[in-house]
Amino acid sequence: MGKRCAVSGCFTGDPEEIKKRKLLQEKPVYLFGVPKVAAEAWSTAIGVTTPLTQNVVCRYHFAAEDIITHFVHSVPDETVVSIERERYLLRKDACPVAGAIRSMPQPPEILGQ
Ligand SMILES: [Zn+2]
Repeated sequence: MGKRCAVSGCFTGDPEEIKKRKLLQEKPVYLFGVPKVAAEAWSTAIGVTTPLTQNVVCRYHFAAEDIITHFVHSVPDETVVSIERERYLLRKDACPVAGAIRSMPQPPEILGQ
């Protein structure tokens, strides 16, 4: 059932990583399926030679502004209501940030202690 992030060296989705996060009562890291139309671009961005197909890539490899995590509504009195989405979305044309693995937890941080 579980899928591991396709980025080399990333532990998101690894059974140990999931277990550790549960122990720490942290939410699982969101994983995005590779869109068919972007498979080539994503493969190039994360530097894999076998084109991605049924793979997933976790949120750490995207610019924060490319991930839509909340429903945001402005109500008439200008209050902004923001509700976290159950399913995160990527902005159109979002691509993993080449070379930049954002605050990716390293194995000791997750698996250590
Ligand atoms: Zn990852």
